[in-house]
Amino acid sequence: MKKIYLLVVLLTIISCNEKRSIEKESPSSKQKLIYAIKNVNIIPMTTTNKIIENATVVIKENKIHTINKSIPENAIIIDGKNKWLTPGFIDMHVHTLSDGTPFVMYPTRGPLVSFNTQYNVTPYIANGVTTVFELGARPENIGQRNEIIRGDVIGPRIALAKVIGGNKSNLTAQTPSDGRNAVRFAKEEGYEFIKVYTWLNEETFKAVIDEAKKQQMKVVGHIPAAFEGKAATDFFVPHFGLIAHAEELSKQTNDHSYKKAQEFARLAKENGTWLIPNLSNMVSIEQQAKSLENIENLPGFKYVHPLMQNKWLTSNSYHGASKDLIAYYKELVDFHILIVKAFKEANVPMVAGTDAGISGIIAGFSLHQELKLLVDAGLTNEEALASTTRLAAEWLGIDDKIGTIETGKFADMVLLDKNPLEDISNTTKIAGVFVNGKWIAKKNIDTMLLEVEKWNNVNKENYNWKALLNSFKN
Ligand SMILES: [Zn+2]
Repeated sequence: MKKIYLLVVLLTIISCNEKRSIEKESPSSKQKLIYAIKNVNIIPMTTTNKIIENATVVIKENKIHTINKSIPENAIIIDGKNKWLTPGFIDMHVHTLSDGTPFVMYPTRGPLVSFNTQYNVTPYIANGVTTVFELGARPENIGQRNEIIRGDVIGPRIALAKVIGGNKSNLTAQTPSDGRNAVRFAKEEGYEFIKVYTWLNEETFKAVIDEAKKQQMKVVGHIPAAFEGKAATDFFVPHFGLIAHAEELSKQTNDHSYKKAQEFARLAKENGTWLIPNLSNMVSIEQQAKSLENIENLPGFKYVHPLMQNKWLTSNSYHGASKDLIAYYKELVDFHILIVKAFKEANVPMVAGTDAGISGIIAGFSLHQELKLLVDAGLTNEEALASTTRLAAEWLGIDDKIGTIETGKFADMVLLDKNPLEDISNTTKIAGVFVNGKWIAKKNIDTMLLEVEKWNNVNKENYNWKALLNSFKN
């Protein structure tokens, strides 16, 4: 009897909450406004990618409602003349700044520093990034996603990969049975993917991947250091679905020849392993090693939270590297280009990811640099676009929802002033972004960015990385 009573109370609470959220009609959860983009050139990014010129797109209730059909009377008209519409961009490797880990100094203590979620994700939206793959997912990221879904924050969709075999804020696993348990915990806690990390031993790496397969969770990640110098056949295994950056391959060997790149590509093909080349990461490391001015001059640096600005400039682990080390970084930069060429030759799908959040890699802004580097390395403009739209959605298993411009899909789209198929740098020429059916015009984007910049300027002096670390020790 008691149980039934409890159930009734619980259901009442749930339905009340539902009602409240419906009444609120929060911007992101359900879009009331209907939009029509007129006279626009659509780059649908379907496999055939047939450009639809001078088209009309109607956006209703978060979705692409119709293409080239009638315009509803109450629709807000957006002029698309001489403009280009692409699917929203997906960054497949990010670490979004989130509130600190709740250090157990004493019960109820909570994090030492907190961040404004909107400011953390504004740079993504400003750059057309409407989905991100969080490769170091923590409970705080689930909280951020909830804020976005509720409509309190305008931000990207967030897919979550839990790290196994990492440092203290992640799950560690020393044995195959630890590894299997960690996968089950991650699944129970609501994470969607597993990220294998550098410090796993060989047996545990394989056990984690095997368990993830049983739990129907795809695996992305690093190649553990334990495999260094060993045959590549040891670490290319089925169900290790996505390599987090090309660096994982270059670190395994001193042979940085095209032949070696081809061997990696062949094994990736055989095992169904895709690649996030993440070329921008190593380019950035080399740049930082040479001079910190290279960081300060990055596009979008002023939108980086002051704590991270301070960390990147005062506690930069790459800066001050020896000439030999800088030469080694350059060798890796060059080898990563060969890896992209070899993977393309072997028809292994590649998806765009930046490692945004780590030193010198700025959320949103870095994606355009990555696309440019992929094209410089030999991808066509269209292949680079596919890597950040359709293919990325496919790997995440949500290609029926996002990744292309087709009726019925979520309205995640970027309106560009110039054609990115002619010059990939045109992905930066943003006239506006549709985020889950919500239209954010360039002038609103600028306002959002300005707010972040102002806040950063006012609060700059209050954030000091070294002081924060010391306060944790005390
Ligand atoms: Zn990363």
